[in-house]
Amino acid sequence: MLKVNWDEAKCIHSGNCVKGFPQVFKIENDQFVIDESGGTEDDLRAAVAACPSGALSIEEI
Ligand code: SF4
Repeated sequence: MLKVNWDEAKCIHSGNCVKGFPQVFKIENDQFVIDESGGTEDDLRAAVAACPSGALSIEEI
């Protein structure tokens, strides 16, 4: 199973993740939430690859 980690210090808030995979990356109560169950493993890997800042990374759990 994959977990997506987010490094807030690296994030440049381009919004690629939220726009591209809104079922996975969400803003809830002003908090950035990652719900891995909202996408396939390919979706998660594509989202991480599309992040321009390197803030997202994949972890096998
Ligand atoms: S795609 Fe990356 S840089 Fe853009 S908002 Fe998401 S985590 Fe931040």
